[in-house]
Amino acid sequence: MNDLNIQKRNFIYQIIENDLNNKKNIFVRTRFPPEPNGHLHLGHVKSICLNFGVAKYYNGECNLRFDDTNPAKEKIEYIKSIKKDIKWLGFKWKGKIKYSSDYFDILYKYAVELIKKKLAYVDELDFKQIIEYRGTLKHSGKNSPYRDRSVEENLILFEKMRFGEIKEGKACLRAKIDMSSSCIIMRDPVLYRIKFIKHHKLGDKWCIYPMYDFSHCISDALEGISHSLCTLEFQDNRRLYDWILDNIKINSRPRQYEFSRLNIEYSVLSKRKLNELVNNKYVTGWDDPRLLTISGLRRRGYTPSSLRDFCDRIGITRQDSNVKMEMLEFCIRRDLNKNASRVMAVIDPVRVIIKNMNDKVEMLIAKKYPNKINSDIRRIPFSNEIYIDRSDFRENSNSKYNRLVLGKEVRLRNAYVIKAEKVEKDINGKIITIYCSYDPSTLNKNPSDGRKIKGVIHWVSVSHSLPAEIRLYDRLFNIPNPGFKNDYLSHINNNSLIIRKGFVEFSLHNAKSEDVFQFEREGYFCVDNSLSSKNNLVFNKVIGLRDITLKKINKW
Ligand code: ATP
Ligand code: MG
Repeated sequence: MNDLNIQKRNFIYQIIENDLNNKKNIFVRTRFPPEPNGHLHLGHVKSICLNFGVAKYYNGECNLRFDDTNPAKEKIEYIKSIKKDIKWLGFKWKGKIKYSSDYFDILYKYAVELIKKKLAYVDELDFKQIIEYRGTLKHSGKNSPYRDRSVEENLILFEKMRFGEIKEGKACLRAKIDMSSSCIIMRDPVLYRIKFIKHHKLGDKWCIYPMYDFSHCISDALEGISHSLCTLEFQDNRRLYDWILDNIKINSRPRQYEFSRLNIEYSVLSKRKLNELVNNKYVTGWDDPRLLTISGLRRRGYTPSSLRDFCDRIGITRQDSNVKMEMLEFCIRRDLNKNASRVMAVIDPVRVIIKNMNDKVEMLIAKKYPNKINSDIRRIPFSNEIYIDRSDFRENSNSKYNRLVLGKEVRLRNAYVIKAEKVEKDINGKIITIYCSYDPSTLNKNPSDGRKIKGVIHWVSVSHSLPAEIRLYDRLFNIPNPGFKNDYLSHINNNSLIIRKGFVEFSLHNAKSEDVFQFEREGYFCVDNSLSSKNNLVFNKVIGLRDITLKKINKW
């Protein structure tokens, strides 16, 4: 798909094109504004790709601004991981990292400006009363008895709030707009509340904190943001965004545009729910490979380019949807099919003894990238004792089963044709060894007498392979829309992780954390970045080989 076409298709680009044509905005500046109260997930990737992508396309800039106005939930740990994730995705923010808290002094001055203009007042209703007075969609709200205080009184009280002379919950600053507005957000929204909580950057400097609606628009304007892109749940807040900027003296005038959030089948994408999964130990942490957090996706073996490709393909609209999981899987499979080198690994091993081969080791050669013309090669030791996968052997079978069957032949990938002669079982009837013979004239070629060999199976040499823990994943939820359900925790798939002890070919002895390989005939597997070590190889299954075309996904 052509980059330009993808971008032109999305309505944000149309808006910017129009603005540029009307000379409304000469310089495109966007921002990505995460709240440092959790780790980033695939939904954030959508927003990151949009904000950084738009800026790059128009030779503009994208700021990274931590929206740190609620110190109760914010942590340095999250700031570090958010920075790491954005860099990993391949994006670069402009200049220094910004924090909403950089603007607390200025924001305070703007609040005072609104008070002086009789557009804000200190309210002493408590939280419950504020809600009661706000009214409902059917009934308009009613004015607070504190609404008509004098400017002087408001200024004194606001200063008292600031200097910690009023207790938490006993007062707040509210905009004076319209208690009967059809838009509930415009019914005298709270602009500042008291919180005696240490701020991660500013310590005890403040005990009043601005609300998102107040700080966001002003921060945007202070940074000269041209297009402030956010998700649809902020649609109604746009009225307040505009109201605040229209009523203070500020040089630039950003505009807010909304797009729909990403939802994706069989997963949840909300920090609150992700937190719940982690805290209740349904998963091992924020980077559990079953989660669609950026750290989970990275650990699972997703590449930055596959995630960017995914975001290009799903596009940006104002329609809510639940994207097919197959779309994400399609993107990583497409990337790895080109870029993952081939190896052999046996996930559920059974021993094969090749009786007519002596105990010498033969070094075979195979391509790392069979589809590339000048592919690098790898050396694979072949010996008279190998492992094959248990599912690749049957004592009896019909002609549709193209693998090894007692009395029949099959090709070993990159090696010879073997024939199964006899099996040995344990007392429970489980096969422990398959005795075979091999045809030494068939290395990478068909038997000269015209015998047809239908199947190919993979293998590793027993004494040259490396033991490995192989983690097979399934979807974390067993319904497609857990994100829309309150009881989403009761739809967890209890079989979402199966751990196998297998063997991988020797060439993987120096595989590094996050390297991804195609295990021939099995799928794509990534070296786990937290459990794996030199003496304990652990692989995560990224995705199977099954190739689904995009056309088919779009039809679903
Ligand atoms: P969550 O609901 O997961 O807590 P949030 O919206 O509170 O997410 P923020 O840190 O405030 O998370 O988000 C930073 C930016 O990422 C915002 O502009 C937000 O709109 C955007 N964003 C968050 N979730 C999604 C999503 N699912 N799809 C698209 N954009 C998202
Ligand atoms: Mg938020």
